[in-house]
Amino acid sequence: MIRVLCLRQLLGLPQLNIFIADKLAKVKYSRHLSRGALFGCQYRMYSTANVDHEDMSKIRNIGIMAHIDAGKTTTTERMLYYSGLTRHLGDVDDGDTVMDYMEQERERGITITSAAITFHWDHHKVNLIDTPGHVDFTVEVERSLRVLDGAVAVLDASAGVEAQTLTVWRQADRYSVPRMVYLNKMDKPGASVGLCLSSIKQKLKVQPLLLNAPIGTGREFEGVVDVIMMEKLVWNSKICEDGIKFEKKLLSQSDGKLYEDALKARHHLIGQLADIDDSIADLVLADTKLDDIQSEAVRKAVRSATIQQKIIPVLCGSSLKNKGVQPLLDAVNLYLPSPMDVHHSFIDFYRTDLCALAFKVIHNKQRGPLTFLRLYAGALKSGSTVYNINRQCSEKTSRILQVYADDFQDMSTAVAGNIVLIAGLKQTYTGDTITSSQSSARAAAREFHKTKATDARNSEELGAPILAGVEVPTPVFFCSVEPPTMALQKQLDFALECLQKEDPSLKVDVDKDSGQTILSGMGELHLDIIRSRIANEYNVDVDLGPLQIAYRETATESTEVEEILDKKLGDRHHLVKMKISLHPDPSATQFKHVILMSSREENLDHVKKHQLKAIESGIQSGITNGPVLNFPVINVTVHLHSFHLGPGTSIAMVSACAAQAVHKALKQANTVLLEPMMILEINTDEDKLHGILSDLAQRRSHVDEIQSRQDTRVVRAITPLAELMGYSTAIRTISSGMATFTMELSHYEQMMPLEQAKAIERVTGFAPVL
Ligand code: GDP
Repeated sequence: MIRVLCLRQLLGLPQLNIFIADKLAKVKYSRHLSRGALFGCQYRMYSTANVDHEDMSKIRNIGIMAHIDAGKTTTTERMLYYSGLTRHLGDVDDGDTVMDYMEQERERGITITSAAITFHWDHHKVNLIDTPGHVDFTVEVERSLRVLDGAVAVLDASAGVEAQTLTVWRQADRYSVPRMVYLNKMDKPGASVGLCLSSIKQKLKVQPLLLNAPIGTGREFEGVVDVIMMEKLVWNSKICEDGIKFEKKLLSQSDGKLYEDALKARHHLIGQLADIDDSIADLVLADTKLDDIQSEAVRKAVRSATIQQKIIPVLCGSSLKNKGVQPLLDAVNLYLPSPMDVHHSFIDFYRTDLCALAFKVIHNKQRGPLTFLRLYAGALKSGSTVYNINRQCSEKTSRILQVYADDFQDMSTAVAGNIVLIAGLKQTYTGDTITSSQSSARAAAREFHKTKATDARNSEELGAPILAGVEVPTPVFFCSVEPPTMALQKQLDFALECLQKEDPSLKVDVDKDSGQTILSGMGELHLDIIRSRIANEYNVDVDLGPLQIAYRETATESTEVEEILDKKLGDRHHLVKMKISLHPDPSATQFKHVILMSSREENLDHVKKHQLKAIESGIQSGITNGPVLNFPVINVTVHLHSFHLGPGTSIAMVSACAAQAVHKALKQANTVLLEPMMILEINTDEDKLHGILSDLAQRRSHVDEIQSRQDTRVVRAITPLAELMGYSTAIRTISSGMATFTMELSHYEQMMPLEQAKAIERVTGFAPVL
């Protein structure tokens, strides 16, 4: 008996969907099946019975990627419905879908948070990881791509490959994710498979392999021909409105042109495969009649070529009209890789020990944090203690859950290859790597360093921690956040603590001078979404201050200072004297250690370890707030020349003296502002290129290259972040919505004096005297 619990209840949300318990499902489906047989129709709904959870070859961890509006949500909803997981068809146009379970997503009609959801299809377990499409959430997209084994790209069949598809496609390239394409919206008047196939070839530079040809287009679209099996699949909405039932029939000569076209398409497909698959090539070369080549052999070749990313299988359908989704699900099982087919090199370091990535933490007020884990190696038992490599701490799991839309099922053990939700991990942040114990972590580290030692290029590589996670980019925007009343400050702090665990690209600090809480994030939309989540999920109606740029500061001249701290506190006398020098150093992106400069006048061997630590912590705190606008100081090194300590002086005074010394040095060192420079990548149609380039010229941009991809242009430019405020809206206007862009931090650069003065005026409200 499967225990069924409701995630909505757990999350304190109203119940929306009903999980069909095992027994019930079996009764329901067998009844359907016998009725279906009577009408000569196919029913494709499966209960969770018969699924071997331990069989890795039957797991599919997939994502659906798409241009906004291509029909990703509609397709996902149909998948869940046909798998028997939901009982009603959610409608994106009514904001009523299972995958978009967060309020903001409903309101904005975009998918922000990567939620993972499990369903069963034809004796396979499919873990569907949702990938957000907005540019501000690139970290989310990349993190979900990291845990996927395969992906389905949904295209609007009337538009072909759109600019944003290109962006996501390239991200998937970076993680070598095998893919297939689903041409949705075949019911639209302009839908054209031919157009889509050529735009896939031209824009994505891959070889498409049409597996399902449409029967009719536009309003006449009624189903597909399975080219490999030579079957026609027809959905008749008059007989079955929701598309569960469809007719499946082997094509024969009596089907006339449909049969002829299908045969031609099959021959073409075998020809394409013969070029890339030896077994098919052998059959063709041995003069086997093309019609005699077994469908199983063709499927095997398609699977292998898909996993090796030599071809892209293409299917078509109309999710909204409930046609073509079931064959898409079949194709996911047939052609996309299982976890066994994908080798992640870091797994080897863990051997049979647990290695898992916490790829998403969500927070529930009643239950605390819930963590989505992708298991790469080993197994995890519910209630066991695990070790978090990033946080260097052990913690106990309480439950392992498999998420089924709004509901979930308790599991006693989760095995490698699976994606599960864990309750009880309080210290874990999104992106952390989990193993079974500290000794497992050490053993894996030894293995890792052993392999690195043989081909290590530098010692930094040797010291690198074992991380299966994704790098979190430096937040480039910040703003202050305030609760409506002081009484709600505690509640706000709690909300921010939880949100930070969920989203490592959000940073929270407290401004030392004003005491204000400061949020740093990836973009305007990112911080706005954080604001509305604090309001909706934690009931604190916060105010955000104006969005500001996270500048850095640096010294442009070397200076030397002597600092004396001479203080009497109570009856204790504290005396610290030190001489330091501060030097510009573009290679020192982060302060790590003070450099001891022993000389003839003073040998610094007498400085004790704990004193050195106190000096370094003082320097660290001193460079956190630069003298220009209180931004962190980077690209400097600090030397210590002399150090004297009076008897009875507390160690805290050593840090205080070092911080004062650094402040003084920075004031003398002609410190300037550094601004974040972004790598901007814009995908645009040729005819919008001119407008985009002239706009970039006004934004202090340096265009690095313009790549041609047939009628699409990819512009790579380096642009100051200050010039990119509100760029999403601007580019939409310039390109009539035809261009998309991504941006990431490239480096920090010194500003021209006039630009620096403008920045200072923007932040302080006063123009500095130049
Ligand atoms: P997403 O942004 O990719 O998640 O796309 P949605 O699933 O939200 O769909 C965007 C719009 O396209 C909605 O208005 C859907 O009703 C519509 N849509 C989705 N699938 C189809 C389809 O197969 N045919 C047609 N004509 N419209 C569709």
